[in-house]
Amino acid sequence: MFTDDLYSGLIAQNRPSTTTVNEPHGASSAELWCIDLRIPRSILAKWLDILDAQERHRREDIRLATLKDAYTARHIALRRVLAAQVGCSPRELRFDRTCPRCGGPHGKPSLLGAEPEFAFNLASSGLVAVIAVRRGGAIGVDVERRMDCFPVEQMAESVFPRNIARWLAKLPDALRRAVFYRLWTRLEAYVKATGQGLLAVNEVPWERVPDGFDLAQTAICVWDVTFDESNACAVASGDDLRRISIARVGVDSWDDESMTLDRWQGVVEHRQLARTHPR
Ligand SMILES: [Zn+2]
Repeated sequence: MFTDDLYSGLIAQNRPSTTTVNEPHGASSAELWCIDLRIPRSILAKWLDILDAQERHRREDIRLATLKDAYTARHIALRRVLAAQVGCSPRELRFDRTCPRCGGPHGKPSLLGAEPEFAFNLASSGLVAVIAVRRGGAIGVDVERRMDCFPVEQMAESVFPRNIARWLAKLPDALRRAVFYRLWTRLEAYVKATGQGLLAVNEVPWERVPDGFDLAQTAICVWDVTFDESNACAVASGDDLRRISIARVGVDSWDDESMTLDRWQGVVEHRQLARTHPR
């Protein structure tokens, strides 16, 4: 049976408070930047020259205009957010994208020249990007736009072990969709925090919990984060966090040099963090 308790746990909604706070520091906090990518091309054009050669080549390879604009917007946003964090210009940032498995240039990016403990991760879905930033070790983030027509059963079969896909298939429709997005974002945030990416999906430890399945307790901590109704989002880190600060960047903020207009919109304190594995 799938109890109401587990239901609320699996799709826990963390509503950020609206209190404005000072910028958090320290290893035990993370920042989550939620960025609206619907930026007019005329504004994107002003920022194109901050992208490096690799980003520009990838951009040029994208045929569909909406996808190309979303790619452009999220990589400009990433550079602007990170540059403000490390105190340089967005153009000066240098990324290391070496894949730990094959040495190719498609690994989880890290910032060259930054302090060793500085970590970030980028995810996007549709016209939203999220950037997680932390000083203090590994971080991973995933966002998935909830779509009513998305074939969750087929997707579950390809990303989850067979027993979990079968369990999901038996849940009532609305619940299945909600649980699927929760588990999917947790899974992706988890494998991104490890640096292995989706190549490592088959190595992720799952465990039976009283009424279903979840990621097994490991050194990686996973939190569900809600920043709006349309997207499921999870953050994973190499150890415990006390606070996740949520900043929303709207389209109006893009011409602002520092993209700070909507900054520090909310904070999820530790007591509100629905970590998926209380220890
Ligand atoms: Zn590789």
